[in-house]
Amino acid sequence: MTTPTPITVAHGDGIGPEIMDATLRVLEAAGARLQIETIEIGEAVYARGNSAGIEQESLDSLRRTGVFLKAPITTPQGGGFKSLNVTVRKTLGLYANVRPCPAYAPFVATKHPNMDVVIIRENEEDLYAGIEHRQTDEVVQCLKLITRPGCERIARYAFEYARAYNRRKVTAFSKDNIMKMTDGLFHRVAEEVAAEYPDIEFEHWIVDIGAAKLADTPEAFDVVLLQNLYGDILSDVAAQIAGSVGLAGSANIGPRTSMFEAIHGSAPRRAGQDLANPSGLMLGAVQMLVHIGQGDVATAVHNAWLTTIEQGIHTYDIFDESVSRQKVGTRAFADAVIERLGQRPEILKSVEYADAPRIEVKVPERARQHKEQIGIDVFVDVPDGDPETMGPELEALAGPSLRLEMISNRGQKVYPHGVPETLCVDHWRCRFSVPEGTVDTAETIALLGRLAEAGYPFVKTEGLFTFDGEPGFTRGQGQ
Ligand code: NAD
Repeated sequence: MTTPTPITVAHGDGIGPEIMDATLRVLEAAGARLQIETIEIGEAVYARGNSAGIEQESLDSLRRTGVFLKAPITTPQGGGFKSLNVTVRKTLGLYANVRPCPAYAPFVATKHPNMDVVIIRENEEDLYAGIEHRQTDEVVQCLKLITRPGCERIARYAFEYARAYNRRKVTAFSKDNIMKMTDGLFHRVAEEVAAEYPDIEFEHWIVDIGAAKLADTPEAFDVVLLQNLYGDILSDVAAQIAGSVGLAGSANIGPRTSMFEAIHGSAPRRAGQDLANPSGLMLGAVQMLVHIGQGDVATAVHNAWLTTIEQGIHTYDIFDESVSRQKVGTRAFADAVIERLGQRPEILKSVEYADAPRIEVKVPERARQHKEQIGIDVFVDVPDGDPETMGPELEALAGPSLRLEMISNRGQKVYPHGVPETLCVDHWRCRFSVPEGTVDTAETIALLGRLAEAGYPFVKTEGLFTFDGEPGFTRGQGQ
C-alpha cells in the first residue's frame, strides 16, 4: 500500500458541495490514496471582506499539498471582488490549462460525433494581466502582455502533452496578421518549439477562421494551443459542441502546484436539488489522479464513468429519450459510477492511464539581445485637437536631436498626410525618433516637460527599441 497523496479540497458554492460529495465518494470507492485537507473558498470568504475569496492559510495549504481539487464558486457581482480562479492561477503560477473535449456519441447528443479535441490554454498572460487604465476623458486601455518564456512554456507543454498522450498534431491559433508583436511572438515561438518535435505535426490558423473551423469541423483538430483570451472563449465552445459544458473537466498545471476542476460554474439555480451533473468535476479528478501518479485509479474511475454514460444513466442536462435509459440525480449518478468500477465501456473507447508519464517542461536559457532606444512614442491628452495644427507645433517642440515622425489617433496615422474623415479622440500618439544614434534620456525628459508646458500633457510614453538591430515596435500603415 503506497502512502496517501496529500491534496487540498474546496467544496465551493451553489452546486459545488453536491458535485464534490459525489466525486469524493467515487474516488474513495475506487481506492484513491488521498489525504485530504479541506479549505473554504468563495461566497462565505468574500462575505467576510476578503476581496480574493480565499484566505492566506488556504493558499498555504495549496502550496503545501501542491494539488487542489476545486468545486465551482459563485463570484459576487459588482466591483471590488477579484476572480478567485485568476488569483489562484497567477499566485501559484498555474500556466497551463488543459481541457479535453471529446464527443460521447451516440450517448450524448452532438453534431460532431468524431470530435476529440484537447484545448491547451495559456493561463496567466495576455489581456488577463488586469492592467487597465483610463487615460483621458474618452479613452481606456487594457494591456496585452505576452512574454517569450510564457509562450515557450505553454508551447512546450502542448507538444509534451501531445507526445505523452499519443496525439498526432498541435494547432496554434493567433491573430498575428493584426497583432504582429504579441500574437506574432506566440506564433513564432510555437513554430520554433514545433521544430524540436518532428514526430508531431504542427499548423497555425488565424484565430477567426480557426474558430469558425473548430466550431464547424472539430474532427480536423487534435491538440489546440491558445493564448489566454482565445482559449477562455474557445474551450467553452469546444466543450459545448462536444456535448455539454457540464461534462468537461479541466486541469490548471504549474511547476509546483496544480488545480483540477469542472469547467462550468456554480449554477446557483440548480443548487441543493440533487440535480446537477457531477461529471465535469469527476473528469477533473481523473486528470488529478493521473497527475499524482495514480493512473490505476484514474483508469478505473474514467472507465466506470464512460460505462455509466454508455448505459444511458444520465442527469437531466444530457437526458435524451432517444438514447437515455434512466434519468438520475447527482447522488444516484455517483452510485451508478461506483457500481460500475471495474467495468470498461463496450462502444465508447476505454481509457488506460496506468503508464501515463508526468509532463515536465524545461525552458532553455536564452542570451539577452542588445537593446537600444531609437525613439519614443508620447501619448498626449488633447481634447478637440487638429492634427494639421498639432503637427507643426510638435515638430517645433521636438528638440535638438529628436524629430517628430508622425501623429496617430486610435492607431491611425493622422499627421503627416491625414484625412479629415478619420475620427479623432482626445488621445494622441506622437512618435519622436532620432535620425541616427540613440535617444538621450535627459533629452526625453526635457521633451516631456516642453510638451506639458505647451499644452500637450502626456499620459504615457513607450520607448522605441531595437533588439540586436531589429525594431521592437510596429511600423507602417495604421501604426
Ligand atoms: P454556470 O456554468 O454556473 O451555469 C450555467 C448553466 O449551465 C446553469 O444554469 C445550468 O443550467 C447549467 N449547468 C452548469 N453546470 C451544470 C451541471 N454540473 N449540471 C447541470 N447543469 C449545469 O454559469 P453561470 O450561471 O454563468 O455562473 C454561475 C456562477 O458561477 C457565477 O457566479 C460565476 O461567476 C461562477 N463561475 C465559477 C466558475 C468556477 O468556479 N470555476 C466558473 C464559471 C463560473
